[in-house]
Amino acid sequence: MKRNGSGTVVMAMSSVILLRLAGRASSFLHPLTTRSRSSHFASYPLTAFTSRPSLPISSVARPMSTTIADANTNSDENIKQPQKQKQKQKQKQKQQQNPPKNKTPAVEAPPIELPTNESDENLLKIRHTTSHIMAQAVQDLYPEAQTTIGPWIDNGFYYDFYFPPDPETQESRKLTDSDLKQIKKRMDKIISSNLPMREEVVSREEARRRIEELGEPFKLEILDSIKTEPITIWHTGDEWWDLCGGPHVESTSQIPKKAVQLRSVAGAYWRGDEKREMLQRIYGTAWNEVQELKAYKKMLEEAKKRDHRMLGKKLNLYSIQEDAGGGLVFWHPKGSAIRSIIEDYWKSAHTQAGYDIVYTPHIANLDLWKTSGHNDFYRDGMFQQMDVDNDEYQIKPMNCPFHCLMYKDELRSYRDLPFRWGELGTVYRYERSGTLHGLMRVRGFTQDDAHIFCLPSQLQSEIVDVLTLTEEILSRFGFDKYDIMLSTQPDKSVGSDKIWSDATEALEGALATKGWDYTLDEGGGAFYGPKIDLKIRDAIGRSWQCSTVQCDFNLPERFGLEYVSAEGTKERPCMVHRAIFGSIERFFGILVENTAGDFPLWLAPTQFKLLPVTDAVVGYCKEVERKAARMGIRVEVDRGTERLGKQIRNAEQARIPVMAVVGMKEMESGKLAVRSRKLGDLGSFAVDALLEELKSCAEDAIEMTTMGEVEVEVDEVDEEKE
Ligand SMILES: [Zn+2]
Ligand SMILES: [Zn+2]
Repeated sequence: MKRNGSGTVVMAMSSVILLRLAGRASSFLHPLTTRSRSSHFASYPLTAFTSRPSLPISSVARPMSTTIADANTNSDENIKQPQKQKQKQKQKQKQQQNPPKNKTPAVEAPPIELPTNESDENLLKIRHTTSHIMAQAVQDLYPEAQTTIGPWIDNGFYYDFYFPPDPETQESRKLTDSDLKQIKKRMDKIISSNLPMREEVVSREEARRRIEELGEPFKLEILDSIKTEPITIWHTGDEWWDLCGGPHVESTSQIPKKAVQLRSVAGAYWRGDEKREMLQRIYGTAWNEVQELKAYKKMLEEAKKRDHRMLGKKLNLYSIQEDAGGGLVFWHPKGSAIRSIIEDYWKSAHTQAGYDIVYTPHIANLDLWKTSGHNDFYRDGMFQQMDVDNDEYQIKPMNCPFHCLMYKDELRSYRDLPFRWGELGTVYRYERSGTLHGLMRVRGFTQDDAHIFCLPSQLQSEIVDVLTLTEEILSRFGFDKYDIMLSTQPDKSVGSDKIWSDATEALEGALATKGWDYTLDEGGGAFYGPKIDLKIRDAIGRSWQCSTVQCDFNLPERFGLEYVSAEGTKERPCMVHRAIFGSIERFFGILVENTAGDFPLWLAPTQFKLLPVTDAVVGYCKEVERKAARMGIRVEVDRGTERLGKQIRNAEQARIPVMAVVGMKEMESGKLAVRSRKLGDLGSFAVDALLEELKSCAEDAIEMTTMGEVEVEVDEVDEEKE
């Protein structure tokens, strides 16, 4: 037991072990979920997502981010192509090499690629140790503070403290910004003292005795929730200690003071439970060196400009209506336009990849959820049941059991397999109100779900195809840098060791076929099977967990899924869950932040706007509008009540990619002066040529470029020359 300078008994427990359990529980509970569940935490760090703190350091491979090569490689030089197509391809290649420069300052990338907890083992140690040092500093300064949990998170760490009310005033201390400054000063002192970090293994009884002696009730709860032995304590010099699983730096002087910053204080309920104590959470950020901290701060500035909640409102994309309830998304016409393009593209990409699209109900008899097991192990995430003809019905939190029922609908032969069933399935999951966050954490969302039922011999090639499709779809949206993680058999799991090793080999083999580097999270798989998770890197260097491919040995067993083998025996098929976006809502939020609301031409809710200079041309503009709309171009005509400069500004603010200024001259010549939001003036286009070009650029998911590259104009230009 240690006492601090003021004689007050202190002890802190960083919750590595607890979080490890929570992290496991999340993969246990959420097939196809896109984020860690973290139900213990009521509020969120700046990124809104806690990283999985459970990553065993020993298994972390070197940092990776795979850059996918140009996907446009299937052009065959020997096949004669129409001139137009050739030029288009050139243009596409050119754009892929030199993406158009965006003039909005919001889209600047940070100067350096920031390391992550997964990619940089030492950084993780720095963050974890810094959280101990902060807790020590807080208790040095405010001896009444009780410590609870303090994990590392993406970009830093936090620690939750409970400040008991003063016996006289009944008020408890509220930390202010100036308190944070004092705390940081104290931390710097601890760092300079060069205190060694030392591990001690104790029995559960000894840990309990020490905690009771300290009188820290939250820690006792944590100790009780730790189910694994042994219990380890980490000492910071002789001055402070903490129940913790590590890892840490060797001594406090290895913490780069200048690369540590305390950022904010937020309220958080103990265990994320509104009925429990309100804690104060201090968020900090910590890096290897001051340059990284600077780059991170720059990234935060960028992130603020891109916040999807702010842009969602400003661009009128979606809303959350508190009258309807938290976490339920209303897609406004412009947001819906983008969503429907995303969904159409998703469906066609899947159909082309050999999937069948299916639809299943939104509710089902609770018995289905009893069979699947969700009613036992996922109950906290499910909404209340409803009564239907004296039976209990459940609104679905997952689509998987429905696909299992469809599989069972007929006797299947090995010749029928594989089945690939995709569904944009809307599910509802209970999330605590304090955890809801814009589109990123909601209570109703649509998974871009699919289940593959295949023979064991088909598993690896099916996984390869899933990875290829994932790459194809994500890169269409501009995401071509990924961090990939393979998670293997956890301590508690279903299925034989043989089935686990076969499936894990199939996943490894698939990654090898793709040539993708990855991080190994040993023991980090779901209880029902190993999985591959894929995080995408966005334009300002943040990473977002989106895609997942998971083998499942549990549901086929529970539902008794079978196929008749070539030998006439009945066998279990392999079942694979997979999602590429994760959820449409969250992916859309990421997309808004990635583009800063500046959607590419193919996704922009309004692609093209006509700006009439005088009333006399409004009728003509309407004609062009009708023509464009018939070609499937999303087009608008400005009402023309404002000066041209203002019209242009309005169109720019609405992030419309292409606009055309229309005056008498344009009307008479049938040519439009075209302006690209990203590239400025593009010159003058004949109406038909322009509309064709718009349509075909959108189809190819590329931007409109300058007039010189548009072949239809060539003849006319030549004529003019002569
Ligand atoms: Zn620790
Ligand atoms: Zn599933």
